[in-house]
Amino acid sequence: MSANVESERGFRDILGAEAESLERLVAAARNHFERYGYRPIILPVVEPTDLFARGVGATTDIVEKEMFFVSDGHTHADQLGDLCLRPEGTASAVRAYIDQGFDKSDPLQKFYYSGPMFRNERPQKGRYRQFHQIGAELFGAALPAADAEVIAMLRTYLESVVSAGRFTLRLNSLGCAVCRPEYVRRLKTFLAANRDALCEDCRRRIETNPLRVLDCKNESCRAILREAPHLTDSWCEACKSHFDSLLQRLKTRKVDAEWDQWLVRGLDYYTRTVFEVTAEGLGAQNAVAAGGRYDGLVELLGGVPTPALGFAIGVERLALVTGANSVAPRPKIFLASTSETTRTTAEQWADTLRRELPAVGTSVEVWTDLGGQGLKRQLQQAGKLGCAFTLILGDREVSEGKVILRDMKKSTQEDIELSIESLMRRLRERLGL
Ligand code: ATP
Ligand code: MG
Repeated sequence: MSANVESERGFRDILGAEAESLERLVAAARNHFERYGYRPIILPVVEPTDLFARGVGATTDIVEKEMFFVSDGHTHADQLGDLCLRPEGTASAVRAYIDQGFDKSDPLQKFYYSGPMFRNERPQKGRYRQFHQIGAELFGAALPAADAEVIAMLRTYLESVVSAGRFTLRLNSLGCAVCRPEYVRRLKTFLAANRDALCEDCRRRIETNPLRVLDCKNESCRAILREAPHLTDSWCEACKSHFDSLLQRLKTRKVDAEWDQWLVRGLDYYTRTVFEVTAEGLGAQNAVAAGGRYDGLVELLGGVPTPALGFAIGVERLALVTGANSVAPRPKIFLASTSETTRTTAEQWADTLRRELPAVGTSVEVWTDLGGQGLKRQLQQAGKLGCAFTLILGDREVSEGKVILRDMKKSTQEDIELSIESLMRRLRERLGL
């Protein structure tokens, strides 16, 4: 026998309860976001690396350390790195928005997406090299009402899939092109004066990405940062009133959100509002969703200046919070047969039932024997599948226009009429549909 081919570290097969749970979260998001007028957008997995270097920022962790590069098979050594597997969806959505000319023709657009993202990180619980995100992006809306709607949509979605109270939503404002540069200058001066006491990463970031220093988890850095100049004090009037209005609107809409004056996000494109949702019980990888406003990104990527904002949810992490057992088992029935003739009849009735049985939240699974098994084996299979009922199509019964309805739990049987009305009536009754 040849050696097994195994999957690459950080890349996993997802199946069983976890796969069901991820699919359910994506379906619920689609359903929820559509109520706010969001439309699907399906984005390429491979993108020019430059899109993220410019869009996300060349000095961010994502671009500096976490990219997966791809080759088209003809790539020259000096081009290696020109193409990559997408690490996030926002930059791609912005590229698509500009490509379609929406910035010029029809700026207000709402998109949602879901799919795999790739980051070359050290794999651990809740952190994979291929993971899945559900994201939403709203273009062409500058008012704080837009921030409030996006945050409310995220929060109500999360609460629809997990019982309330398990999430904390924190938000802050990073200022804008008017007020941030001055703040960054003040912060740089402060950090440079305290350089020796900062960790190595922070020291490097003083020049490359000083805002990120505010996000350092290192205790000794945190202690120094308590004395740092405050971003809040640098907000211009417009940023201040935007943030005040957002907080007010969230309050009126009864959206639970906390202002965290230290919150910054690792991506360069954010302006003004940023937010993050964390959940209990996830350990170090406790961020389930994050987002914010990126008013400068459309212009940065070559479009007409357009305000925009959005968020991304980490689906695996959300599934860890909701728990796989939150997926209700689907009701199942089995159509057993006793001969070649009734097998064909069973197949036809199975198709009819698949068509006619209503889906109440979840569909009913209808099974038939595909292994040429005897009746006893078929009943065993039905039991193992967890079927509530088996319809036994015996030759005699079928010739008399009947079928046996066997209750798998009670092991009781009764003859019922083999007609669509009678089957539907009985199954609906028994399955509680
Ligand atoms: P973290 O601080 O955990 O590294 P991040 O700031 O890099 O997160 P974002 O780029 O904002 O994350 O992505 C949004 C969400 O995607 C995160 O809140 C998280 O739930 C999820 N996510 C990010 N990276 C991973 C990963 N490697 N594996 C699984 N989920 C991830
Ligand atoms: Mg990260």
